[in-house]
Amino acid sequence: MRGLFLWLRRHSASTIDGPMRDLFALERHFTDAERSIAESTRRFVDDTFRPLLDDAWEHGTFPREVPKAVGALGLIGCNLHGYGCANLGDVAYGLACRELERGDSGLRSFVSVQSSLVLWPIHTYGSQEQKERWIPGLRAGELVGCFGLTEPDAGSNPSAMTTTAERVDGGWVLSGEKRWMTNGTIADVALVWAKAEGTVRGFLVPVQTAGIERWTLGPKLSFRASESAAMRFNDVRLGDDALLPGVKGMKGPLSCLTQARYGIGWGVLGAAEECLDIATAYTKNRRQGEGKPLAGHQLVQAKLAEMWTELTASQLFALELGRHKQAGTLEPVQVSMVKRHNVHAALQIARTSRELLGGNGILLENRVMRHAANLETVYTYEGTHDVHTLVLGHEATGYAAY
Ligand SMILES: Cc1cc2nc3c(=O)[nH]c(=O)nc-3n(C[C@H](O)[C@H](O)[C@H](O)COP(=O)(O)OP(=O)(O)OC[C@H]3O[C@@H](n4cnc5c(N)ncnc54)[C@H](O)[C@@H]3O)c2cc1C
Repeated sequence: MRGLFLWLRRHSASTIDGPMRDLFALERHFTDAERSIAESTRRFVDDTFRPLLDDAWEHGTFPREVPKAVGALGLIGCNLHGYGCANLGDVAYGLACRELERGDSGLRSFVSVQSSLVLWPIHTYGSQEQKERWIPGLRAGELVGCFGLTEPDAGSNPSAMTTTAERVDGGWVLSGEKRWMTNGTIADVALVWAKAEGTVRGFLVPVQTAGIERWTLGPKLSFRASESAAMRFNDVRLGDDALLPGVKGMKGPLSCLTQARYGIGWGVLGAAEECLDIATAYTKNRRQGEGKPLAGHQLVQAKLAEMWTELTASQLFALELGRHKQAGTLEPVQVSMVKRHNVHAALQIARTSRELLGGNGILLENRVMRHAANLETVYTYEGTHDVHTLVLGHEATGYAAY
């Protein structure tokens, strides 16, 4: 298998689309600056992240050196402007997500949470003081942020949250429990959504504040190179400056999720591309005895044709979504359609790649089953596949069936 990866590396170095032919010449749509961010991200993934990955996966930890390294590359919040953010545009951000997830969904998730679920809301809804206090450190990866929306009894329906923030003299008292907070174990600050004065509000909570308990969820069989935390807030006293002033109601967390789902629509392309590249190379190279390669058999070709078609459709979807975001015409329902389609396609591609590698498909070193296990989570988080189905059903019919 070592030969397979040398072959892949050689072959994929010349194009950001890897060995399977880029049938619709997707690459021609990208500017030099966008290609350059994709290439530098891929180099970081290959040279710095991959050597840490198998160990992180086996131990169920996120490599501690990664936040500052991706910060130094300018990837965190690279579609935002000001406060040191790179302002490279939404397509460049999407291409970076794709390269990060080619490495591992946990790596892309780290950047998604930090960029879309913490930096973006501070940038969009924060006070001047909050922007100056938090954005430079988060952007640089010197500080880590996490996002607390899900609760033990409120996942797909986050408006059922029971966490509350009560107004008291000079501030707030936060009480409740959040679950599944990506980066939560290593975070410096948590953006916590709570019911306050009859609506939902966001609070920037330094995690060292008295009254916070946090613990790691696991062991997990997916997203092992990413850390997930639960946090309990036992009457945590916050100042007035913790409240995110610019948004009220579910629009706050839902608009953050639209940003993060955009990155997922691009990110999963990377995982799917790596799986298809590996499956194609493997089936072309594997012969049993004197027989023809696996790739010469009809049933194998049917699987490769299906995977290639679905991947190409996903790439075109992501590109079109990027154009809409960049033009300021992005609609949340478009994001739902692309998140739902692209994650489903990527998961099928990863599962089929595992199948095509036979027994070798379950080895960690061969990557495809790790991607498949990760994509099981991506299928569920940021709105499950079925919840996005219902969003589309609502849009199509006018009837809400949630
Ligand atoms: C590794 C990981 C990282 C995560 N990171 C974060 C994070 O950083 N911050 C955060 O806040 N959350 C995070 N989450 C939580 C994630 O967003 C939730 O798991 C997700 O929203 C689903 O909620 P749930 O797990 O409670 O499932 P449920 O909502 O209980 O859903 C269970 C099943 O029921 C279905 N279902 C639910 N409602 C309906 C309905 N009305 N009609 C039909 N079917 C329905 C779902 O589709 C699903 O199949 C993370 C989760 C994981 C696994």
